[in-house]
Amino acid sequence: MAQSSGNPPRKRVVLLGATGSIGENTLRVLAAHRDKLELVGIAARSNWEKLAAIARQFDVRQIGVFDDSAYAAARANPAAFPAGARLVGGLAGLTELAQLPTADIVLVAVVGTTGLEPALAALAAGKDLALASKEILVLAGKFVLAAAQRHRRKLLPVDSEHNAVFQCLEGHPQAGVRQIVLTASGGAFRDWPAERLAGVRPADALKHPNWSMGPKITVDSATLANKGLELIEAQCLFGLKPAQCTAVLHPQSIVHCLVEFVDGAMIAQLCPPSMTFPIQHALLHPERAPGVDAALDFTRLIGLEFRPVDEKRFPMLRLAKEAMNAGGVAPAIYNAANEIAVAAFLDEKIPFLAIPAVVEHTLGRIKNFEPTDLSAVLALDAESRRVTLSHLTSFAS
Ligand code: NDP
Ligand code: MG
Repeated sequence: MAQSSGNPPRKRVVLLGATGSIGENTLRVLAAHRDKLELVGIAARSNWEKLAAIARQFDVRQIGVFDDSAYAAARANPAAFPAGARLVGGLAGLTELAQLPTADIVLVAVVGTTGLEPALAALAAGKDLALASKEILVLAGKFVLAAAQRHRRKLLPVDSEHNAVFQCLEGHPQAGVRQIVLTASGGAFRDWPAERLAGVRPADALKHPNWSMGPKITVDSATLANKGLELIEAQCLFGLKPAQCTAVLHPQSIVHCLVEFVDGAMIAQLCPPSMTFPIQHALLHPERAPGVDAALDFTRLIGLEFRPVDEKRFPMLRLAKEAMNAGGVAPAIYNAANEIAVAAFLDEKIPFLAIPAVVEHTLGRIKNFEPTDLSAVLALDAESRRVTLSHLTSFAS
Protein backbone atom coordinates (compact mmCIF):
# COMPACT_ATOMS: atom_id res chain seq x y z
CA MET A 1 0.00 0.00 0.00
CA ALA A 2 1.12 3.58 -0.66
CA GLN A 3 2.49 5.33 2.43
CA SER A 4 1.78 9.04 2.72
CA SER A 5 3.35 11.18 5.43
CA GLY A 6 1.81 10.51 8.83
CA ASN A 7 -1.37 8.97 7.41
CA PRO A 8 -2.27 5.29 7.17
CA PRO A 9 -1.40 3.79 3.76
CA ARG A 10 -3.86 4.31 0.92
CA LYS A 11 -5.19 1.25 -0.88
CA ARG A 12 -4.16 1.39 -4.53
CA VAL A 13 -6.94 0.44 -6.92
CA VAL A 14 -7.01 -0.78 -10.52
CA LEU A 15 -10.46 -0.38 -12.08
CA LEU A 16 -11.28 -2.46 -15.16
CA GLY A 17 -14.50 -1.19 -16.76
CA ALA A 18 -13.93 2.37 -15.55
CA THR A 19 -16.25 4.00 -18.09
CA GLY A 20 -19.34 1.92 -17.29
CA SER A 21 -22.05 2.16 -14.68
CA ILE A 22 -20.09 0.33 -11.97
CA GLY A 23 -17.03 2.30 -13.07
CA GLU A 24 -18.81 5.63 -12.56
CA ASN A 25 -20.07 4.62 -9.12
CA THR A 26 -16.58 3.48 -8.20
CA LEU A 27 -15.17 6.86 -9.22
CA ARG A 28 -17.67 8.53 -6.86
CA VAL A 29 -16.41 6.32 -4.03
CA LEU A 30 -12.79 7.03 -4.94
CA ALA A 31 -13.40 10.79 -5.13
CA ALA A 32 -14.99 10.75 -1.68
CA HIS A 33 -12.16 8.76 -0.10
CA ARG A 34 -9.00 10.12 -1.66
CA ASP A 35 -7.36 9.84 1.77
CA LYS A 36 -7.93 6.06 1.82
CA LEU A 37 -8.01 5.01 -1.83
CA GLU A 38 -5.80 5.84 -4.80
CA LEU A 39 -6.68 5.00 -8.39
CA VAL A 40 -3.56 3.69 -10.16
CA GLY A 41 -4.92 1.95 -13.27
CA ILE A 42 -8.05 2.09 -15.44
CA ALA A 43 -9.32 0.25 -18.50
CA ALA A 44 -12.30 0.13 -20.83
CA ARG A 45 -13.20 -1.34 -24.19
CA SER A 46 -13.32 1.62 -26.57
CA ASN A 47 -14.30 4.85 -24.82
CA TRP A 48 -10.74 6.20 -24.63
CA GLU A 49 -11.87 9.83 -24.41
CA LYS A 50 -13.75 9.10 -21.19
CA LEU A 51 -10.74 7.13 -19.94
CA ALA A 52 -8.56 10.15 -20.67
CA ALA A 53 -10.91 12.41 -18.69
CA ILE A 54 -10.81 9.97 -15.74
CA ALA A 55 -7.03 9.75 -16.00
CA ARG A 56 -6.76 13.54 -15.83
CA GLN A 57 -9.22 13.80 -12.94
CA PHE A 58 -7.49 11.15 -10.82
CA ASP A 59 -3.98 11.54 -12.22
CA VAL A 60 -3.86 7.92 -13.38
CA ARG A 61 -0.80 6.90 -15.42
CA GLN A 62 -1.65 3.29 -16.38
CA ILE A 63 -4.44 3.04 -18.91
CA GLY A 64 -5.78 0.04 -20.84
CA VAL A 65 -7.90 0.17 -24.01
CA PHE A 66 -9.19 -3.22 -25.15
CA ASP A 67 -10.38 -2.36 -28.63
CA ASP A 68 -7.62 -2.13 -31.28
CA SER A 69 -8.83 0.93 -33.17
CA ALA A 70 -9.68 2.83 -29.96
CA TYR A 71 -6.23 1.94 -28.61
CA ALA A 72 -4.65 3.35 -31.77
CA ALA A 73 -6.77 6.52 -31.48
CA ALA A 74 -5.78 6.95 -27.83
CA ARG A 75 -2.10 6.55 -28.67
CA ALA A 76 -2.45 9.13 -31.42
CA ASN A 77 -3.68 11.64 -28.80
CA PRO A 78 -1.10 11.63 -26.01
CA ALA A 79 -1.98 15.21 -25.03
CA ALA A 80 -5.39 13.95 -23.83
CA PHE A 81 -3.69 11.95 -21.05
CA PRO A 82 -1.67 13.14 -18.04
CA ALA A 83 2.07 13.55 -18.59
CA GLY A 84 3.88 10.24 -18.18
CA ALA A 85 0.76 8.15 -18.89
CA ARG A 86 1.34 4.69 -20.28
CA LEU A 87 -1.21 3.07 -22.59
CA VAL A 88 -1.64 -0.66 -23.02
CA GLY A 89 -3.97 -2.45 -25.43
CA GLY A 90 -6.07 -5.58 -25.81
CA LEU A 91 -6.64 -8.36 -23.31
CA ALA A 92 -2.90 -8.53 -22.66
CA GLY A 93 -3.02 -4.88 -21.62
CA LEU A 94 -5.90 -5.49 -19.20
CA THR A 95 -4.07 -8.47 -17.76
CA GLU A 96 -0.93 -6.42 -17.34
CA LEU A 97 -2.86 -3.71 -15.48
CA ALA A 98 -4.37 -6.35 -13.19
CA GLN A 99 -0.85 -7.27 -12.11
CA LEU A 100 0.53 -3.75 -11.65
CA PRO A 101 3.20 -3.87 -8.96
CA THR A 102 1.79 -0.61 -7.59
CA ALA A 103 -1.75 -2.03 -7.04
CA ASP A 104 -3.29 -3.58 -3.92
CA ILE A 105 -6.78 -4.39 -5.20
CA VAL A 106 -8.31 -4.88 -8.64
CA LEU A 107 -11.97 -4.17 -9.27
CA VAL A 108 -13.25 -6.08 -12.30
CA ALA A 109 -16.38 -4.45 -13.72
CA VAL A 110 -16.07 -5.36 -17.38
CA VAL A 111 -19.33 -6.57 -18.84
CA GLY A 112 -19.35 -10.31 -19.62
CA THR A 113 -16.46 -12.73 -19.10
CA THR A 114 -13.58 -10.77 -20.70
CA GLY A 115 -12.29 -9.98 -17.23
CA LEU A 116 -11.63 -13.61 -16.30
CA GLU A 117 -7.97 -13.74 -17.31
CA PRO A 118 -7.18 -10.35 -15.70
CA ALA A 119 -9.04 -11.45 -12.53
CA LEU A 120 -6.96 -14.64 -12.26
CA ALA A 121 -3.78 -12.69 -13.04
CA ALA A 122 -4.58 -10.21 -10.27
CA LEU A 123 -4.95 -12.98 -7.69
CA ALA A 124 -1.78 -14.70 -8.88
CA ALA A 125 0.08 -11.40 -8.54
CA GLY A 126 -1.05 -11.10 -4.94
CA LYS A 127 -3.83 -8.55 -5.37
CA ASP A 128 -7.19 -8.68 -3.66
CA LEU A 129 -10.04 -9.02 -6.13
CA ALA A 130 -13.28 -7.02 -5.98
CA LEU A 131 -15.60 -8.65 -8.47
CA ALA A 132 -18.63 -7.01 -10.09
CA SER A 133 -18.62 -9.16 -13.24
CA LYS A 134 -20.88 -11.99 -12.07
CA GLU A 135 -20.55 -13.73 -15.45
CA ILE A 136 -16.96 -14.63 -14.52
CA LEU A 137 -18.10 -16.65 -11.52
CA VAL A 138 -20.86 -18.34 -13.49
CA LEU A 139 -18.35 -19.33 -16.16
CA ALA A 140 -15.41 -20.35 -14.03
CA GLY A 141 -16.24 -19.75 -10.38
CA LYS A 142 -14.49 -22.77 -8.96
CA PHE A 143 -11.21 -21.80 -10.64
CA VAL A 144 -11.44 -18.21 -9.42
CA LEU A 145 -12.19 -19.33 -5.86
CA ALA A 146 -9.36 -21.85 -5.96
CA ALA A 147 -6.97 -19.12 -7.15
CA ALA A 148 -8.05 -16.78 -4.34
CA GLN A 149 -7.48 -19.56 -1.83
CA ARG A 150 -4.16 -20.65 -3.35
CA HIS A 151 -2.77 -17.13 -3.32
CA ARG A 152 -4.46 -16.27 0.01
CA ARG A 153 -6.12 -13.19 -1.40
CA LYS A 154 -9.53 -11.75 -0.63
CA LEU A 155 -12.39 -12.19 -3.11
CA LEU A 156 -14.83 -9.39 -2.36
CA PRO A 157 -18.23 -9.48 -4.05
CA VAL A 158 -19.42 -6.17 -5.49
CA ASP A 159 -22.77 -7.40 -6.83
CA SER A 160 -25.11 -5.80 -4.26
CA GLU A 161 -26.87 -9.00 -3.13
CA HIS A 162 -23.62 -10.92 -2.75
CA ASN A 163 -21.90 -8.09 -1.01
CA ALA A 164 -24.93 -8.08 1.31
CA VAL A 165 -24.63 -11.83 1.97
CA PHE A 166 -20.91 -11.41 2.58
CA GLN A 167 -21.69 -8.77 5.22
CA CYS A 168 -24.40 -10.93 6.87
CA LEU A 169 -22.17 -14.00 6.99
CA GLU A 170 -19.13 -12.34 8.51
CA GLY A 171 -18.50 -13.94 11.88
CA HIS A 172 -21.00 -16.76 11.34
CA PRO A 173 -19.89 -20.35 10.78
CA GLN A 174 -21.05 -21.76 7.45
CA ALA A 175 -22.63 -24.79 9.16
CA GLY A 176 -25.21 -22.52 10.79
CA VAL A 177 -26.62 -21.30 7.46
CA ARG A 178 -29.87 -22.86 6.28
CA GLN A 179 -30.42 -20.76 3.17
CA ILE A 180 -29.78 -17.41 1.59
CA VAL A 181 -32.49 -15.39 -0.09
CA LEU A 182 -31.51 -12.89 -2.76
CA THR A 183 -33.97 -10.12 -3.47
CA ALA A 184 -35.02 -9.23 -7.02
CA SER A 185 -36.50 -5.89 -8.04
CA GLY A 186 -38.36 -7.70 -10.83
CA GLY A 187 -36.90 -5.58 -13.64
CA ALA A 188 -38.73 -3.55 -16.24
CA PHE A 189 -41.57 -6.03 -16.70
CA ARG A 190 -42.26 -6.91 -13.10
CA ASP A 191 -45.93 -5.95 -13.39
CA TRP A 192 -46.53 -6.71 -17.08
CA PRO A 193 -48.96 -9.50 -17.97
CA ALA A 194 -47.43 -12.41 -19.93
CA GLU A 195 -49.26 -11.51 -23.17
CA ARG A 196 -47.62 -8.06 -23.36
CA LEU A 197 -44.11 -9.52 -23.23
CA ALA A 198 -44.22 -10.73 -26.84
CA GLY A 199 -44.12 -7.17 -28.17
CA VAL A 200 -41.34 -5.87 -25.94
CA ARG A 201 -38.71 -3.66 -27.64
CA PRO A 202 -35.15 -3.01 -26.41
CA ALA A 203 -36.15 0.50 -25.26
CA ASP A 204 -38.83 -1.06 -22.97
CA ALA A 205 -36.38 -3.55 -21.49
CA LEU A 206 -33.82 -0.82 -20.82
CA LYS A 207 -36.13 1.05 -18.43
CA HIS A 208 -35.21 -0.38 -15.03
CA PRO A 209 -37.48 0.74 -12.18
CA ASN A 210 -34.79 1.05 -9.45
CA TRP A 211 -31.25 0.79 -10.81
CA SER A 212 -29.32 2.62 -13.51
CA MET A 213 -26.99 0.03 -15.06
CA GLY A 214 -25.35 -0.98 -18.33
CA PRO A 215 -27.59 -2.34 -21.13
CA LYS A 216 -26.69 -6.04 -20.80
CA ILE A 217 -27.46 -6.32 -17.10
CA THR A 218 -30.60 -4.19 -17.52
CA VAL A 219 -31.96 -6.66 -20.07
CA ASP A 220 -30.86 -9.51 -17.78
CA SER A 221 -32.93 -7.88 -15.03
CA ALA A 222 -35.94 -7.69 -17.33
CA THR A 223 -35.75 -11.42 -18.16
CA LEU A 224 -34.69 -12.29 -14.57
CA ALA A 225 -31.60 -13.95 -16.03
CA ASN A 226 -29.75 -11.54 -13.76
CA LYS A 227 -31.27 -13.20 -10.71
CA GLY A 228 -30.56 -16.61 -12.20
CA LEU A 229 -26.91 -15.70 -12.73
CA GLU A 230 -26.84 -14.33 -9.19
CA LEU A 231 -28.19 -17.54 -7.66
CA ILE A 232 -25.36 -19.43 -9.37
CA GLU A 233 -22.89 -16.73 -8.32
CA ALA A 234 -24.07 -17.03 -4.70
CA GLN A 235 -23.90 -20.81 -4.69
CA CYS A 236 -20.33 -20.61 -5.91
CA LEU A 237 -19.13 -17.74 -3.71
CA PHE A 238 -20.56 -19.05 -0.46
CA GLY A 239 -20.13 -22.80 -1.04
CA LEU A 240 -23.85 -23.62 -0.82
CA LYS A 241 -26.05 -26.33 -2.29
CA PRO A 242 -28.46 -25.19 -5.03
CA ALA A 243 -31.44 -25.77 -2.74
CA GLN A 244 -29.97 -23.29 -0.25
CA CYS A 245 -30.11 -20.40 -2.74
CA THR A 246 -33.46 -18.77 -3.45
CA ALA A 247 -34.83 -15.50 -4.77
CA VAL A 248 -37.76 -13.36 -3.70
CA LEU A 249 -39.35 -10.37 -5.38
CA HIS A 250 -38.78 -7.17 -3.42
CA PRO A 251 -39.83 -4.16 -5.50
CA GLN A 252 -38.15 -1.51 -3.31
CA SER A 253 -34.57 -2.91 -3.66
CA ILE A 254 -33.76 -1.85 -0.10
CA VAL A 255 -33.25 -5.27 1.44
CA HIS A 256 -30.51 -6.87 -0.65
CA CYS A 257 -30.44 -10.32 0.92
CA LEU A 258 -31.72 -12.38 3.82
CA VAL A 259 -29.57 -15.05 5.39
CA GLU A 260 -31.55 -17.67 7.27
CA PHE A 261 -29.75 -19.65 9.96
CA VAL A 262 -30.66 -23.16 11.11
CA ASP A 263 -32.48 -21.82 14.15
CA GLY A 264 -34.85 -19.89 11.89
CA ALA A 265 -33.36 -16.47 12.64
CA MET A 266 -32.69 -14.25 9.64
CA ILE A 267 -30.17 -11.48 9.15
CA ALA A 268 -30.83 -9.00 6.35
CA GLN A 269 -28.71 -6.25 4.84
CA LEU A 270 -30.42 -2.97 3.98
CA CYS A 271 -29.30 0.17 2.19
CA PRO A 272 -30.71 2.39 -0.56
CA PRO A 273 -30.41 1.06 -4.13
CA SER A 274 -27.07 2.61 -5.04
CA MET A 275 -24.01 0.60 -6.03
CA THR A 276 -21.77 3.00 -4.12
CA PHE A 277 -22.62 1.06 -0.93
CA PRO A 278 -21.31 -2.38 -2.00
CA ILE A 279 -18.43 -0.86 -3.99
CA GLN A 280 -17.23 1.13 -1.00
CA HIS A 281 -17.63 -1.87 1.29
CA ALA A 282 -15.52 -4.03 -1.03
CA LEU A 283 -12.79 -1.45 -1.61
CA LEU A 284 -12.38 -0.42 2.02
CA HIS A 285 -12.94 -3.85 3.58
CA PRO A 286 -12.63 -4.38 6.49
CA GLU A 287 -12.73 -0.67 7.23
CA ARG A 288 -15.96 1.34 7.34
CA ALA A 289 -16.23 5.03 6.43
CA PRO A 290 -19.06 7.49 5.79
CA GLY A 291 -21.00 6.55 2.65
CA VAL A 292 -21.21 8.53 -0.55
CA ASP A 293 -25.00 8.42 -0.77
CA ALA A 294 -27.46 9.17 2.01
CA ALA A 295 -28.45 6.23 4.21
CA LEU A 296 -32.06 5.16 4.73
CA ASP A 297 -34.17 7.75 6.50
CA PHE A 298 -36.51 6.14 9.02
CA THR A 299 -38.21 9.43 9.85
CA ARG A 300 -40.13 8.73 6.64
CA LEU A 301 -42.39 5.78 5.88
CA ILE A 302 -40.41 2.96 4.25
CA GLY A 303 -42.58 0.13 2.97
CA LEU A 304 -40.90 -3.22 2.38
CA GLU A 305 -42.75 -5.78 0.33
CA PHE A 306 -41.82 -9.37 -0.53
CA ARG A 307 -43.57 -11.72 -2.93
CA PRO A 308 -42.73 -14.95 -4.73
CA VAL A 309 -41.17 -14.73 -8.19
CA ASP A 310 -43.38 -15.86 -11.07
CA GLU A 311 -41.13 -18.34 -12.89
CA LYS A 312 -43.76 -18.99 -15.59
CA ARG A 313 -43.53 -15.41 -16.81
CA PHE A 314 -39.75 -15.41 -16.44
CA PRO A 315 -38.40 -18.73 -17.77
CA MET A 316 -34.79 -17.50 -17.58
CA LEU A 317 -34.97 -17.95 -13.82
CA ARG A 318 -36.23 -21.52 -14.17
CA LEU A 319 -33.49 -22.29 -16.72
CA ALA A 320 -30.83 -20.88 -14.39
CA LYS A 321 -32.06 -23.03 -11.53
CA GLU A 322 -32.03 -26.10 -13.78
CA ALA A 323 -28.47 -25.26 -14.84
CA MET A 324 -27.44 -24.74 -11.22
CA ASN A 325 -28.95 -28.08 -10.24
CA ALA A 326 -27.30 -29.84 -13.18
CA GLY A 327 -23.92 -28.38 -12.16
CA GLY A 328 -20.83 -29.04 -14.29
CA VAL A 329 -20.66 -26.63 -17.20
CA ALA A 330 -24.43 -26.09 -17.49
CA PRO A 331 -24.21 -22.64 -15.82
CA ALA A 332 -21.42 -21.67 -18.26
CA ILE A 333 -23.54 -22.74 -21.24
CA TYR A 334 -26.48 -20.75 -19.84
CA ASN A 335 -24.26 -17.69 -19.43
CA ALA A 336 -22.71 -17.83 -22.89
CA ALA A 337 -26.03 -18.43 -24.67
CA ASN A 338 -27.65 -15.62 -22.70
CA GLU A 339 -24.90 -13.17 -23.59
CA ILE A 340 -25.31 -13.88 -27.30
CA ALA A 341 -29.12 -13.84 -27.12
CA VAL A 342 -29.22 -10.53 -25.23
CA ALA A 343 -26.87 -8.90 -27.75
CA ALA A 344 -29.13 -10.16 -30.58
CA PHE A 345 -32.21 -8.80 -28.81
CA LEU A 346 -30.56 -5.40 -28.32
CA ASP A 347 -29.69 -5.44 -32.05
CA GLU A 348 -33.38 -6.16 -32.75
CA LYS A 349 -32.45 -9.46 -34.41
CA ILE A 350 -34.60 -11.60 -32.11
CA PRO A 351 -37.73 -10.86 -30.08
CA PHE A 352 -37.65 -10.63 -26.30
CA LEU A 353 -39.36 -13.98 -25.75
CA ALA A 354 -36.79 -15.68 -27.97
CA ILE A 355 -34.07 -15.07 -25.35
CA PRO A 356 -35.12 -18.01 -23.12
CA ALA A 357 -35.93 -20.15 -26.16
CA VAL A 358 -32.44 -19.59 -27.57
CA VAL A 359 -30.78 -20.34 -24.23
CA GLU A 360 -32.85 -23.50 -23.72
CA HIS A 361 -31.92 -24.64 -27.22
CA THR A 362 -28.19 -24.25 -26.56
CA LEU A 363 -28.48 -25.96 -23.17
CA GLY A 364 -30.13 -28.90 -24.94
CA ARG A 365 -27.44 -29.11 -27.63
CA ILE A 366 -24.29 -29.33 -25.52
CA LYS A 367 -23.38 -32.27 -23.33
CA ASN A 368 -22.71 -31.40 -19.72
CA PHE A 369 -19.49 -32.44 -17.99
CA GLU A 370 -17.48 -31.63 -14.87
CA PRO A 371 -14.52 -29.50 -15.96
CA THR A 372 -11.17 -30.23 -14.39
CA ASP A 373 -9.23 -27.40 -15.97
CA LEU A 374 -9.87 -23.89 -17.12
CA SER A 375 -9.04 -24.57 -20.76
CA ALA A 376 -11.96 -27.03 -20.96
CA VAL A 377 -14.28 -24.32 -19.63
CA LEU A 378 -13.00 -21.77 -22.13
CA ALA A 379 -13.43 -24.23 -25.02
CA LEU A 380 -16.95 -24.99 -23.81
CA ASP A 381 -17.72 -21.27 -23.62
CA ALA A 382 -16.56 -20.78 -27.21
CA GLU A 383 -18.56 -23.80 -28.36
CA SER A 384 -21.71 -22.54 -26.58
CA ARG A 385 -21.36 -19.18 -28.31
CA ARG A 386 -20.88 -20.88 -31.70
CA VAL A 387 -23.97 -23.08 -31.24
CA THR A 388 -26.05 -20.10 -30.13
CA LEU A 389 -24.91 -17.88 -33.00
CA SER A 390 -25.63 -20.57 -35.53
CA HIS A 391 -29.11 -21.08 -34.07
CA LEU A 392 -29.71 -17.32 -34.35
CA THR A 393 -29.44 -17.54 -38.13
CA SER A 394 -32.83 -19.28 -38.07
CA PHE A 395 -34.32 -15.95 -36.90
CA ALA A 396 -32.91 -13.96 -39.84
CA SER A 397 -35.75 -12.58 -41.95
P1 NDP B 1 -21.64 -1.10 -18.57
O1 NDP B 1 -22.13 -1.60 -19.86
O2 NDP B 1 -22.22 0.14 -17.99
O3 NDP B 1 -20.06 -0.89 -18.60
C1 NDP B 1 -19.21 -1.90 -19.03
C2 NDP B 1 -17.78 -1.47 -18.84
O4 NDP B 1 -16.95 -2.52 -19.28
C3 NDP B 1 -17.40 -0.24 -19.66
O5 NDP B 1 -16.39 0.45 -18.98
C4 NDP B 1 -16.85 -0.87 -20.94
O6 NDP B 1 -15.99 -0.02 -21.68
C5 NDP B 1 -16.10 -2.02 -20.33
N1 NDP B 1 -15.84 -3.11 -21.26
C6 NDP B 1 -16.73 -3.83 -21.98
N2 NDP B 1 -16.10 -4.77 -22.71
C7 NDP B 1 -14.78 -4.63 -22.43
C8 NDP B 1 -13.62 -5.27 -22.87
N3 NDP B 1 -13.67 -6.27 -23.76
N4 NDP B 1 -12.43 -4.87 -22.37
C9 NDP B 1 -12.35 -3.85 -21.48
N5 NDP B 1 -13.42 -3.20 -21.02
C10 NDP B 1 -14.62 -3.58 -21.50
O7 NDP B 1 -21.80 -2.32 -17.54
P2 NDP B 1 -22.05 -2.28 -15.97
O8 NDP B 1 -21.11 -1.33 -15.31
O9 NDP B 1 -23.50 -2.13 -15.71
O10 NDP B 1 -21.68 -3.78 -15.57
C11 NDP B 1 -20.35 -4.22 -15.50
C12 NDP B 1 -20.33 -5.57 -14.82
O11 NDP B 1 -20.78 -5.42 -13.48
C13 NDP B 1 -21.25 -6.61 -15.48
O12 NDP B 1 -20.66 -7.86 -15.42
C14 NDP B 1 -22.50 -6.58 -14.60
O13 NDP B 1 -23.16 -7.82 -14.58
C15 NDP B 1 -21.88 -6.28 -13.23
N6 NDP B 1 -22.80 -5.63 -12.31
C16 NDP B 1 -23.30 -4.39 -12.61
C17 NDP B 1 -24.18 -3.75 -11.75
C18 NDP B 1 -24.66 -2.37 -12.03
O14 NDP B 1 -25.32 -1.78 -11.15
N7 NDP B 1 -24.39 -1.80 -13.16
C19 NDP B 1 -24.62 -4.40 -10.51
C20 NDP B 1 -24.01 -5.68 -10.27
C21 NDP B 1 -23.14 -6.27 -11.14
P3 NDP B 1 -16.59 0.96 -22.87
O15 NDP B 1 -17.32 2.06 -22.13
O16 NDP B 1 -15.40 1.47 -23.57
O17 NDP B 1 -17.50 0.12 -23.70
MG1 MG C 1 -27.14 -7.76 -8.22
